[in-house]
Amino acid sequence: MTADTEQNIRVRIAPSPTGDPHVGTAYIGLINFLCARQRNGKFVLRIEDTDRTRFVSTSEQMIFEALRWLGLSWDEGPDVGGPYGPYRQSERTEIYREHADLLLASGSAYRCFCTPEELEAVRRQQMAARLPARYPGTCRRLSVSEVEANLSAARPFVIRMKVPGSGSTTFRDELRGAITFEHTNVDDQVLIKSDGFPTYHLANVVDDYLMRITDVIRAEEWISSTPKHVLLYQAFGWPVPRFWHMPLLRNVDKSKISKRKNPVSLVYYRQAGYLPEAMLNFLGLMGGGMPADINNATEKFTLEDMMQHFDIRNIRPAGPVFDLTKLRWLNGEYLRALSPQAFYGALRSTILSDHYLSRIAGLVQTRMETLGQFGDLTNFFFAENVLPPPEVFLPKKRSIEETLAFAAEQLATLEATEWTAEALEPALKQMGDAKGWSVKENFMLLRAILTGSTMSPPLLESMVIFGKARTLDRLRRFLDAQKKTAGHRK
Ligand code: GLU
Repeated sequence: MTADTEQNIRVRIAPSPTGDPHVGTAYIGLINFLCARQRNGKFVLRIEDTDRTRFVSTSEQMIFEALRWLGLSWDEGPDVGGPYGPYRQSERTEIYREHADLLLASGSAYRCFCTPEELEAVRRQQMAARLPARYPGTCRRLSVSEVEANLSAARPFVIRMKVPGSGSTTFRDELRGAITFEHTNVDDQVLIKSDGFPTYHLANVVDDYLMRITDVIRAEEWISSTPKHVLLYQAFGWPVPRFWHMPLLRNVDKSKISKRKNPVSLVYYRQAGYLPEAMLNFLGLMGGGMPADINNATEKFTLEDMMQHFDIRNIRPAGPVFDLTKLRWLNGEYLRALSPQAFYGALRSTILSDHYLSRIAGLVQTRMETLGQFGDLTNFFFAENVLPPPEVFLPKKRSIEETLAFAAEQLATLEATEWTAEALEPALKQMGDAKGWSVKENFMLLRAILTGSTMSPPLLESMVIFGKARTLDRLRRFLDAQKKTAGHRK
C-alpha cells in the first residue's frame, strides 16, 4: 500500500452463508486481517445473506467459529456490532431499496418487467447464435406511461442498472494495474430482484460505501464484477475504493480449488485434526505475501511473523497451489513441535474431547459386554482411513459399477441434506427408492463406506456424531480409491 494509505484503512470480508465455511474465506480473511492489523485499521465481517435460495441457516455460526478457531478476530460484525451496522445484509433491505430508488430517479437504473419465460427465450436465441447471454435492453426503452401502466397492473419487476451502450470502464487493480472492460461486454445487471431483495452487486457496493471500506481485498473471481461496481459508485457519485484481487487457490492440477479434489470446508480441517497454526502458516505461504527469504528458508512462520513481515504488494497473481501434501507435512511439523502436554491437550480438545467421546459412548453402551470392546466398536470414529474391500461393501446382487454410481448418489444426497438423523433418513430412503435400491442395500453400503465394516453402532447417529464434513470426505475418498482401482484393472 502506498504511503498515503498507511493508516486507518478499513477492510472487510463478506462471506455468503451458503454452506460450510470455505478455505478460500480463511485465505482472504487472513490477508484482510493482516492488512488491518499492520495499518492500525479495522477488519469488518459482513454477512452477505441476500441470496435466499442458497441460504443455509447454520452457516453463519460456522463461519464465526471457523474464523475464531483460526484466531482471525474482527472488529465489527453481526455478533460484535460496530458503528456502521447492521452487518447482516438481510437486515438492511430497506437501505438497498432506498438506494435503488435513487438510481431510478437519476436514470442510472430502470424497472424491467420481462417475464422469466421471455428472458429464457432470448437466452436460447443467443445461445443458438453463439452470442454471450445478455439482457437485450427491452425495458430500457419503455416510456414513462408504459412503466406506469405496468405498475398499476401490478406486474412483477426487477430493477436493472443501465450500463452505457458504448465506451468502457477502467479501474485499477492494485496487484495487476489498469483493467478495462468494454461496456458491450457488461450486462444490464439486476440490482433488485422481483422478491425485493438486492443482488450481490448492489448490496456489496452500497455496504462497502456506507461501511467506509477503503480497500476491497477479495478473490480474483470478482474481477469481472468490478466494472459493474465501479459504474455503480459513479452513478451514486461516490469515490471508488482500492481493489485488490487475490489469486484463486488451485488444486495440484491447477484447476480452481474444488471439493472434488480437496476438502474445502474449514470444518473438515478442524475436525480432521489440523492445527490452526499450521493452517494459517499454509495459507500465508499462498501467493508469496511473505518475503522470499522467510518463505524459502523455513516455510514456517506464525501469525505474529506474518503481521510483521507480510506484504500484500508481494502477492503474485498466478494461482497458488493448495497442496494437501504440503499442508499435512506442515501440520506434522507443528504437531511434533508441541510439548507433550500441549500435544495431549490438542487431542483432548478435538478427536478425544469429552463432547465427542461422550456422544460416542452413548451410542455403544447397550452393545457392550466389557468396556474393553469400546475400541472394537468405535474405531472408525478415530481412524483416518477405513477403506472397505468389495467383499464388505458390494451388495450381493449388484455390480461394482452400479454400486459406485449409487454411492455417488448417496454422496450428492448427503451433501444436500441437513445433518440430523431426522432429515437424513427420509432423504436417503427417497433417493434409494427412486433408484430401485432397498433400504437395506442402501444403508449397508453407506455403513461399509463409513465404518469399513458390515456391523456398526446405529448408522445415522454415527454419521451425525462423525460430522458432515468428514463423512462426505470419507465417501469421496472411497469413490476416488475405487476409481483408481478400476483404472488399474483396465
Ligand atoms: N459475498 C461474496 C462472497 O461470498 C463477497 C465477495 C466480495 O468480497 O466482494 O465471496
